[in-house]
Amino acid sequence: MTKLALLGGDPVRTKLFPAHNFIGDAEKKKVMEIMDSGVLSRFLGVWHDDFYGGDEVRAFEREWADSYRAKHGVSVNSCTSGLYAAVGAAGVGPGDEVIVSPYTMVASVTAAVAFNAVPVFADIDPQNFCLSPESIRERITERTKAIIVVHLFGHPADMDAIMEIATQHNITVIEDCAQAPNATYKGRPVGTLGHMGVFSLNYHKHIHSGEGGIVLTNDERLADRVAMIRNHAEAVVTGREIDSLVNMVGFNFRMGELEAGIGRMQHAKSQSLVDQRRYNLEYFNRNLPEIEGLTISPVADDVEHSYYAAVLNYEAQVAGISRDTLIKALHAELPETEMRKGHGPLIGGGYVKPIYLYPMFQEQTAFGNLGCPFKCPHYKGELNYSAGICPEVEHAHATIITHEYMQPSLEKSDLDDVLSAFAKVADNMDDLRAFEKE
Ligand SMILES: *Cc1c(COP(=O)(O)O)cnc(C)c1O
Repeated sequence: MTKLALLGGDPVRTKLFPAHNFIGDAEKKKVMEIMDSGVLSRFLGVWHDDFYGGDEVRAFEREWADSYRAKHGVSVNSCTSGLYAAVGAAGVGPGDEVIVSPYTMVASVTAAVAFNAVPVFADIDPQNFCLSPESIRERITERTKAIIVVHLFGHPADMDAIMEIATQHNITVIEDCAQAPNATYKGRPVGTLGHMGVFSLNYHKHIHSGEGGIVLTNDERLADRVAMIRNHAEAVVTGREIDSLVNMVGFNFRMGELEAGIGRMQHAKSQSLVDQRRYNLEYFNRNLPEIEGLTISPVADDVEHSYYAAVLNYEAQVAGISRDTLIKALHAELPETEMRKGHGPLIGGGYVKPIYLYPMFQEQTAFGNLGCPFKCPHYKGELNYSAGICPEVEHAHATIITHEYMQPSLEKSDLDDVLSAFAKVADNMDDLRAFEKE
């Protein structure tokens, strides 16, 4: 039995894992074409045909909407911008509550704060790490204006149950699909199940254009309001038949032609890159050696996961080894990935801490120093951002292990090295227990 690298033995592998780079000839050719045209953006922030952007932007929107069977696609320069525009389009404002998950990237929460609404945190379903319909139901008040659902790690939320609650209470549902391109729920693509769905083309996501995003919707009015907020709404309202000035305050969330062109080429590869992730993870899961306390988090029968990350549930009491030590032992066996040097191996514990524990919520300070929107006189509810409000999130944060040993750049031999590291740890659990006692 070989000694664990954490305890002074040789690691399973030292050669870096291959680069995760899917920018290829198609993207390069497209970029050169756009460069030759000299038109790097055709947006105008006044009422004009160019209010909706250039050829690449419009083709990007059309192709994306068609592939998701959505009526409208509105491109933006990030998923964060898309979430902000979607919340604004929904008419959210001071005094309103927006139900959100605290287990997400912060932008899915700050999108509500940006319109002077207060986030109300609901708990997750521990099976899929997405908002629990029961918890949403408990948090609904007459002030609830929107729900932002995150398909976390690429696992779709239980959208039928969530839409039933939303319809009953006339609440707008925004899907944050940053981690879930090509994920499906009961055969339907995520991003088209709520009123608006927002995707990311940030470098760290399944496909990317450096930075970028898109909002999908089947509602023409919402699509138009998103397009207005994207591009200086206040300057354009007179030229338009605008039914409400609410939130018609614009930003510049516009995507350039280069990003749109790259985004089109990336989008064409999206399904095959996600399929490769599914294939790799299936291999990883099938060959994962047994480790006390460690189990593969199940995927619901009626969904297709897109594996931004995969989850392993870990019960430290069962193994008699802390999660921290287990991860340290795996890290010691495995190298990093080229292009992501300094980020550590593709495995870690807990994902982000519950967002209500961030200083913004603990101190209730966001815009200015008067406590707005939390202490806004128009807000009539009572906020609670104490530890303990979402026990399932806190439990997941304290126990789960997430990994990306399904990235499309990984070959079978790479995955075999990762699996050998797990096997080595499994063989040396007693040594790890002794190490922890020291
Ligand atoms: C990455 C991410 C975002 C933000 O995406 P950007 O395009 O970087 O703004 C939002 N929500 C979730 C869940 C994310 O993972």
